[in-house]
Amino acid sequence: MKSSIRDFQRGRTILHCDMNNFYASVECMNDPSLRDRPVAVCGSVEMRHGIVLAKNYLAKAYGVKTGDVIWKAKHKCPDLVVVEPHYDQYMKFSRLARDIYERYTDRIEPFGMDECWLDLSDSVIPADGKKTADEIRSIVKFELGLTISVGVYFNKVFAKLGSDMRKPDATTCIPYKSFKKIVWPLPVSDLLGVGRSTGDILSFYGFETIGDLAQAPERFLTDKVGKNGLMLKAFANGEDTSSVKRSDYISPVKSVGHGVTGREDLRNNEDVWKLMLELVQEVGHRLRQHGKLAGGVSVGVRDCKLRCCEFQCRLPLPTHSPMYLARAAYSLFTRRYGWDLPIRSLTVRAIDLIEDTSDIQTDIFTDPVYIDKMEKLDLSIENLRERFGDGIVKNAVLLGDTKMPEDRELQIVMPAGAFM
Ligand SMILES: [Mg+2]
Repeated sequence: MKSSIRDFQRGRTILHCDMNNFYASVECMNDPSLRDRPVAVCGSVEMRHGIVLAKNYLAKAYGVKTGDVIWKAKHKCPDLVVVEPHYDQYMKFSRLARDIYERYTDRIEPFGMDECWLDLSDSVIPADGKKTADEIRSIVKFELGLTISVGVYFNKVFAKLGSDMRKPDATTCIPYKSFKKIVWPLPVSDLLGVGRSTGDILSFYGFETIGDLAQAPERFLTDKVGKNGLMLKAFANGEDTSSVKRSDYISPVKSVGHGVTGREDLRNNEDVWKLMLELVQEVGHRLRQHGKLAGGVSVGVRDCKLRCCEFQCRLPLPTHSPMYLARAAYSLFTRRYGWDLPIRSLTVRAIDLIEDTSDIQTDIFTDPVYIDKMEKLDLSIENLRERFGDGIVKNAVLLGDTKMPEDRELQIVMPAGAFM
């Protein structure tokens, strides 16, 4: 990095705020009788085989881990209180925390439901980063009854590392001068962007710590880790210049989406394709109801560690055809998702909506006769579903197990904000 760029980067003040044990903390907040007991938030026994989604510190002390099945968790901690998740409440507190952050800056980038980066460069001087972090922490605790851990640095990657270093209810500043002493001994898997498969590759070749990665030969990284290798090496050296997206980054987009948590985790592309075919029926239906066409599609993924990510692309031709949306969403998904982890929930969203009366510029490769036929087919399916119910006509691949939950109440439609 050139020194002028480095000086500019070092002038930034970035906070990473992470709500501690988010799901379990919200449950304990809403039901004070839980507060002094070990608590695990678990998926319902029938639908998800009862897996621990989150736990509080008392449960953690007994060795209860996220991903444990309930019987195993109870074996470790016989007094464990098991509660079902209340996603509407998590959404609410996620939003309330963001409202507090917005008092300090409009440059807020959420990462999942419980984490946000805040860029305070324009609102506080770098020396006041810690003071402001402490203030935000105490306001969140006072107003919401929840604790957060905050990391302070001049880039996003180390700010996030900082928030992981001390929990709960703590501020961690990593001084630039001693970052090597503090950051480099940490396991490489702690670094943002190092997923399970990348972590496995690195550790197989003996690169166990962030410092090992920082000093790894470039040739090795491009050969073994791929195109992200050099970026991760730069991260390990504290060279992350990415900016914090403004809080209104996505919200102006009007979108129509449908998402579910599968009965079981999705493990391969075939599982995903079947679930997508189900999801797009509803998306296509709602586009028609609203008189809209999708100019783009986005796919939201929440993996079994509850990390969210979202991929988007534009469509060559605006559409409300479920099959067309499904193909675009699937192709986008297979290009972008690396299968580091199985998938817990999936959302397909139609974005960049336009009126369905708009004049559409077709490209020369699209056969208008085919489009017309698809349109007629979709309309017939739409009419049949309206008259006889959603199950009356299905794609043949959906006759088997789609891992779609049968109980509609358990479907969780994630609002756009959840994936921002
Ligand atoms: Mg958290």
